[in-house]
Amino acid sequence: MPVRIISTGGTIASTEDEGADTNPDLTSDDLVAAVPALGALADVETEDFSTVPSPYLTFEDLLELVDRLAELDDDLNVDGVVVTQGTDNLDETSYFVDCCYDGGTPVAFTGAMRTPSQAGPDGPANLLASVRTVLSDTAREQGALVVFNDRVHAAREVVKTHSMNVDTFQTPEFGPLASVDENRVTWRRYPESPDPTFEPLSSDLPETVLTCVATLDMSDSVLRLGRDADAVCLAAMGAGHVPPKVLPALETLRDDGVPVVATTRCPEGRLARRTYGFRGSERTLQELGCYYSDLNLQKTRVKTVLALADGRLADAFDRPTPS
Ligand code: ASP
Repeated sequence: MPVRIISTGGTIASTEDEGADTNPDLTSDDLVAAVPALGALADVETEDFSTVPSPYLTFEDLLELVDRLAELDDDLNVDGVVVTQGTDNLDETSYFVDCCYDGGTPVAFTGAMRTPSQAGPDGPANLLASVRTVLSDTAREQGALVVFNDRVHAAREVVKTHSMNVDTFQTPEFGPLASVDENRVTWRRYPESPDPTFEPLSSDLPETVLTCVATLDMSDSVLRLGRDADAVCLAAMGAGHVPPKVLPALETLRDDGVPVVATTRCPEGRLARRTYGFRGSERTLQELGCYYSDLNLQKTRVKTVLALADGRLADAFDRPTPS
């Protein structure tokens, strides 16, 4: 069973200099060499895409990765692909790929919270579980997956929830798709993605998609910066609420034709459609023509970037009208 491992860097591929500075300089071959059990499981081939911490990754890099995944999908000698990377934005990169890759060859993203030289490194176990997952028949047609701490998550749903703990990747509200026990992958859920597949060109990526989190007694300064942006992604309070004092700035964005894509800042749940009617409620967001996203703020931004690049914002998000 041929599996390709593509390494991009991150803690999983990091060594410590003297003085404890950690840098991602291991290759994909180094990662594989640390997991002897892989040899019995798969015919592993490796590729080094980059050796960077994940905050260095760009949308252009990810478009290149998507092209490479499409090539591997056409290659009959590849049954599954595992991408290793830093965990900091793995929930965004995997979702970006999920939105752009429509191949049948399973793709799983993984990484580690501890370097190979720290006590109890989690990278080798995550790599092994990821290879098991992409070789599982059910992994086909599931979109991009995230495998971490023996659990399999949908890229669309997963969130990094802890800055240091190895059990950091969680799917709030709905839970993981599958668990990896010994050599078995036990699937319990098959989510359907409502997202279209995007085919953006890197030259069409928007320059500035701002994010703004609604907070207690916030100022409207970030929203006012939105006048120069391609779009603003707004995480509203609760079911879709903002302080009334920021409404003039949102009205200006509407009048200037800057799209506002709203979601909730709550870790679970979605925006309401017709529960509250006060000024600054979800009703006001609808009157202002805001798009509705059911993703968290980071993923909303990823999807907004892709949708703008593809000229498909209206396909990508609902835009409910007040009823
Ligand atoms: N702490 C990060 C990691 O888990 C660093 C990064 O995202 O590259 O790999």
